[in-house]
Amino acid sequence: MKIAVCAPEVVPFAKTGGLADVAGALPLALEKLKQEVIILMPFYKKAALSKVNARAVLPGVLSSKLGETIKVYFIQNDKYFNRDGLYGTSEGDYPDNLERFSFFCQSCLEFLKQINFRPDIIHIHDWQTSYIPIYLKTKFSFDPFYKNCKTLLTIHNLAYQGLFTREEFPKLGLDWSFFNMEQLEFYGKGNTLKGGIVFSDCINTVSPTYASEIQTKDFGCGLEGVFAKRRDCLFGILNGLDYSIWNPSTDKFIAQRFDINNLKGKHKNKQDLQKYTNLPVKENIPLFGMVSRLAEQKGLDILAEALDEICKLKLQLVILGTGDMKYHRILEDRSKQFPKVFRLYLKFDNPLAHKIYAGSDIFLMPSRYEPCGLGQMISLRYATAPLVYKTGGLADTINKTNGFIFDKYTASSLVNTIKRSISLYQDARKWQTKIKKGMECNFSWEESAKQYIKLYKKLAHK
Ligand code: ADP
Repeated sequence: MKIAVCAPEVVPFAKTGGLADVAGALPLALEKLKQEVIILMPFYKKAALSKVNARAVLPGVLSSKLGETIKVYFIQNDKYFNRDGLYGTSEGDYPDNLERFSFFCQSCLEFLKQINFRPDIIHIHDWQTSYIPIYLKTKFSFDPFYKNCKTLLTIHNLAYQGLFTREEFPKLGLDWSFFNMEQLEFYGKGNTLKGGIVFSDCINTVSPTYASEIQTKDFGCGLEGVFAKRRDCLFGILNGLDYSIWNPSTDKFIAQRFDINNLKGKHKNKQDLQKYTNLPVKENIPLFGMVSRLAEQKGLDILAEALDEICKLKLQLVILGTGDMKYHRILEDRSKQFPKVFRLYLKFDNPLAHKIYAGSDIFLMPSRYEPCGLGQMISLRYATAPLVYKTGGLADTINKTNGFIFDKYTASSLVNTIKRSISLYQDARKWQTKIKKGMECNFSWEESAKQYIKLYKKLAHK
C-alpha cells in the first residue's frame, strides 16, 4: 500500500511530544512490513539546524531520508516555519497558526500531485494536519487524483484542538456554509480538530480504552458528541515502545544489565538506585519509583493527598519529574519530612529515569487519564510491576497478572493498592511470577504497525 504520513513533528527532525515519536517510529515499522511510506512535515528552523542533510527537490520542498528507503519531504516557507518554536512561544500560540498549518496541508496535497504519489491512505496526526481531510472533502472533492484516497486521523492529544475565531474563517478559503455546528463551528468559534473528526474517513486514538472514553463527557473535551456520531469509524491502537532504547539487556545507563532468564542484575540495580538516592540499602523493603510530568493528569492530586500516609508505610519512594509548581512544593515538603523514605528529583534526567525503571520494584502511574502511556510499558520490560489507575492505555496494558490496578480515582484506593502491592512483595515466589509475566508482554512497534496496516486495508476497501 502507498501511505503518506503528514505530521507536524517527526523524530528525529522535530519534537515537542509523543506525536513525534509515533510519526517517526511507525513509518520505520511499516517499512519493515513492506509498505511504501513517505513522510511530509514542515521545514522548521529547528529541523534546518539539525543534521537533516536535506536537499531541494522542488521549489519550496526539501527532502531527506529515514530508515532504508523512506523519503521525508519538508515543506518550506520561511515566513511561517523559520521560527524558534513549532507552535508558539512561552507567551502562547502563534497567532497565525491557522494560516501556517492550512498552508502546510494544502501544500502537501499539491505536492503529492506534483510528484505523482497517489496515496491509498493519508495518515494525519492531530489538529495541525486536520486541514487535509477538510480540504479533500471540500476544495479537492472533485479532483480525480484523490478519488481513491482515504484519510486516517490519529489523535494524540485532545486538549489541543486548533481553535480560531469566526473572523479568521475566510483565511481557509472555504464557503461559509461549512461554518456550521455539524462541521467546523464550535460554540461560535472554528475548531480544526472537529473538522478533522468530521471529514476524515477514519479516526483512531492511541489506545482502545481511550477511544471509548473520549465519547463521554468526562474525557471528550467538549467533542464527545462528535466522537459518538463517528463511533463506527473510531478505533484505538496502542503505541509501540522502542525496545532498542528500552531494553534492560543492553541499557547503557543502568548498573547491571539483565533479562528474563537472569534476574540477578535486577537486585544490583536496586542497590545502585538506593545508593544513588541516599536511601538505606536494603533488599527486602519494596522500592517505589515514579518518572512523570508532575501534573494533575498524571494523578498528582490523589498522590499529593495520600503522600503523608504513603511515607509512613514500610517502603521507599523515588520520584523524578517536573511540572506544576504546586506539586513541586507539596512533594518537596514531604521529601524533607521523610528523608529516609522519600527522595525527590525535580528535573528532567534521562539517565536517572533509566536507573529508576531498572532499580524500582513497583512503578507508580496513577494517571487520571492516559491516552496511551509509556512509563508502564517500560516498567514491565524492566521487571518493575506497574501500579496504575484503570484508564485509557493503562487499562489496556496492565492487569492483575502483570501489575496492580485500581478503579476508583481516590487517594484511599491508591493507598490500599500500595498496601496490597507491599504485601504481595513479601511473597518472593508470587513476586517473581508477576514480574516475569510483565517482562513477557510485547508492546513493540511491529505489533502496532500490523494493526495500522489492518486498519489501512479496511479503509482502502471501504
Ligand atoms: P506523557 O503524557 O508525558 O507523554 P508518557 O508516559 O507517554 O507520558 O511518556 C513520558 C515519557 O517521558 C516516558 O518515557 C518517561 O520516562 C519520560 N519522562 C517524563 N518525565 C521525565 C523526567 N523528569 N526525566 C526523564 N524522563 C522523563
